[in-house]
Amino acid sequence: MSSTTGPIDLTGELVASRRRPPTHWMDLTPEQRVESIIGLGLPAYRARQVSYQWFGRLDPVPANWTDLPAASRQQVSEAFFPTLLTPIRQQTADTGLTTKTAWRAFDGAVIESVIMRYPQGPDSPGRTTVCISSQAGCGMACPFCATGQGGLQRNLSAGEITWQVHDAARRLAAGELPGGPGRVNNIVFMGMGEPMANYNAVLAAARQVHAAAPDGLGIGARGLTVSTVGMVPRMRQLADEDLPVTLALSLHAPDDELRDELVPLNRHFNVDAVLDAAWYYASRSKRRVSIEYILIKDINDQAGRADLLARRLKARGDWGWFHVNLIPLNPTPGSKWTASRPKDERAFVQHLERAGVPVTVRDTRGREIDGACGQLAARTGAVAR
Ligand code: SAH
Repeated sequence: MSSTTGPIDLTGELVASRRRPPTHWMDLTPEQRVESIIGLGLPAYRARQVSYQWFGRLDPVPANWTDLPAASRQQVSEAFFPTLLTPIRQQTADTGLTTKTAWRAFDGAVIESVIMRYPQGPDSPGRTTVCISSQAGCGMACPFCATGQGGLQRNLSAGEITWQVHDAARRLAAGELPGGPGRVNNIVFMGMGEPMANYNAVLAAARQVHAAAPDGLGIGARGLTVSTVGMVPRMRQLADEDLPVTLALSLHAPDDELRDELVPLNRHFNVDAVLDAAWYYASRSKRRVSIEYILIKDINDQAGRADLLARRLKARGDWGWFHVNLIPLNPTPGSKWTASRPKDERAFVQHLERAGVPVTVRDTRGREIDGACGQLAARTGAVAR
């Protein structure tokens, strides 16, 4: 199998330091916000008022913040509220329940985020998931993924990452999206980029999204999912933080020979190493790790691979530490690969079930707007200005 992508690029941090987005309130910790407000010559308590307006009331226009004197609003707006991301295109699918937004950053980088609403049913409350990007582009070079084909441009700042969630929360609260007013329940770091290659900003964003108002958006840690190709040291580091987010590991093959091709980082951290790190995460966080497995026709979907996957997972313990999430491949433009045949998908599921492995098949939202997993690849030339 030959891969059409370039080499792995782990230079996110370096690239980010060359072109830094402007600093926003969302790039600061609560303590830094107080210091910065004092630095402007304002009383410390103004920091709380500003945070309350931004995170609690979700009002993005400082001029409206009437609990601050007009002159302070102007000062605060100029100092801490630059526009980080400008929407340049919005598309909807699934009868309005899926909305994809393409954003332009200060330096012209284009990223995308997706809002997915799951309406209330007889046995489920209505829920909304926001899929966000952590990098502009991605350096992991997985050959089946649209973002991976373009390489890495740069890391996003904590502010740029949180912006995507804040904007979704604001639009939902204001009833601007089909389905009526609502709130964000889940955040998945499954948009563009490898979150673990931008660890500090991702963690700062996750903490902020989780913090209760007025310091953050108050979304439960259990509603946050960080997905990784398997950057082992960062997975272990995350396990030792006091933020029990859900970890998703993009495994895609149970054997090194195939995984070396599908996920090039496997040449550095192989199947044993990533499964050990996933197991460590589960045992520390007491959270079930989600093992992501794309099904690609005749590449990784053989029943024998399902058996091997089950054996390797269960070898690390059988106490419910993992859950396998199968994702039918969303073919990217020009891809020689396609999704598995229904009968092969069924057999794969059956082999896992027979081995006692909890397994689900992911529903693929937003296919017709290239908003489904692995399809986010903003081509600047193709987007309307
Ligand atoms: N870099 C991280 C997060 C972004 S991708 C990671 O890889 O985990 C989020 C999920 O979408 C991953 O499981 C990824 O493997 C999957 N994905 C990528 N391309 C896909 C495609 N073409 N079809 C289906 N899923 C895809």
